[in-house]
Amino acid sequence: MPQLETYYYSDQPTTCPKCGIRTDVVLNMSHTMSVVQVEECLGCGERFMVQDEKN
Ligand SMILES: [Zn+2]
Repeated sequence: MPQLETYYYSDQPTTCPKCGIRTDVVLNMSHTMSVVQVEECLGCGERFMVQDEKN
């Protein structure tokens, strides 16, 4: 599994960093120490990680 890019939550809805289309949560690891979700773009299929910036 290739290393995924990691981004941080903001006030804006999560969108694809490549094409700007909305993404969908494919994996929620919020039960771990840090709040991390894997998101997948509904347009190009790009996957990336989103992390809570409070860490
Ligand atoms: Zn995309």
